[in-house]
Amino acid sequence: MNTRSMSRFTALGLLLGLGVTACIKVPVTGRRQFNLIPDGIMRSLGESTYTSMLADEDIAKGSENSSVIKRVGQRIADSANQKDYDWEFKLIQDSDTINAWCLPGGKIAVYTGLLPVVQNEAGLAFVTGHEVGHATAHHGAERLSQQLAVLGGMAGLYVYLDKKSDMTDKQVATVVAAVGVGAQGAVILPFSRAHEKEADVIGMMYMAKAGYPPEEAPKVWDRMEEATGGGMPAILSTHPSNEQRKANLREWMPKAKKRYKRSSARSGTQQTLWTDSDFSGGGSSGSGGGGKKTTGGGGKKTN
Ligand SMILES: [Zn+2]
Repeated sequence: MNTRSMSRFTALGLLLGLGVTACIKVPVTGRRQFNLIPDGIMRSLGESTYTSMLADEDIAKGSENSSVIKRVGQRIADSANQKDYDWEFKLIQDSDTINAWCLPGGKIAVYTGLLPVVQNEAGLAFVTGHEVGHATAHHGAERLSQQLAVLGGMAGLYVYLDKKSDMTDKQVATVVAAVGVGAQGAVILPFSRAHEKEADVIGMMYMAKAGYPPEEAPKVWDRMEEATGGGMPAILSTHPSNEQRKANLREWMPKAKKRYKRSSARSGTQQTLWTDSDFSGGGSSGSGGGGKKTTGGGGKKTN
C-alpha cells in the first residue's frame, strides 16, 4: 500500500470506526445518530454555559409567570424522564426576545417576549418540549460530532492531496476549502433542519404525555410566523418553513393525540394567559384582555 492510499485508508477507517462505536438512538423518533461526545461532558458543558448565559440577564423571581414556567417545565421534564438531568427553569423578564432554549442537562430559559406568542400553557409546553427535545436527542453533541468528522475528513483529504506533487499549495487549499463549503451545505445545514423537525415531534409527544392537547403545536408556529411578520427570529433561524413543519406535525398528530388521551395529567390548558398588551411597556405579568395588534409585535390570533 502506498502512502496515498494509506492516508485515505486511515481517514476512512477512523471515520467508520467512530461511526460504529458512536451510533445511538434518539428518543421518540428512534433515529440512529452519530455521536462522539459522552453525555456527561455535554451536561457539564450545559451547566457552565447556563451560568454564564444568565449572568447578565434579569431573572424573574417568585413572579406569577415564573411559577408557570416552572410548573409547565416540570411537567415536560417528567415526560422526558431523564434521570441524569438536573432541571432548572428560568424566566428572563422584560425581554422582547421571542425565544427559549434548553442546554444539555435540562437547563431551560424562556424570555418574556415568547409568552404572547405561545399565549397559553399548552403553547408554552410545546415550545419547552421542543427545546428539551433538542437536548434529549443530543442534537448539540451530534452537530459537534459531525463537525469533528468533517474536520477529520478534511485533515485526511489535505494529507492525501499534499502527497500529490502535481498540485500547488494554492490548489490544495482551494480544493480543501471547496470541500469544506460543500460539506457544510450538504451535511451540516440540512441536518439542522432535520433536527428542528425532530425537536418538533419530540416536543409534541412530550407535551401530549404531560397532558397538553397536541393540536396547539402547529398553532404556535402559525402565531410565531405572524408575530415576526414572516421574518426569521433567532428561534427559527435555519428552521424548515412553517408549511414543512406543519406537514411534519400532521404526520405525527394521530400518535400524539393517542398519547394525550392516555395521559393522566390532562387539564384545561389552552386558556389565553398572555397577550401582547400584558407586555407592552415592559410589563411583567397579567391575564385576560384581547391580543393587541402591534407592528412587528406579538401574536394576535387566539384559539
Ligand atoms: Zn429548535
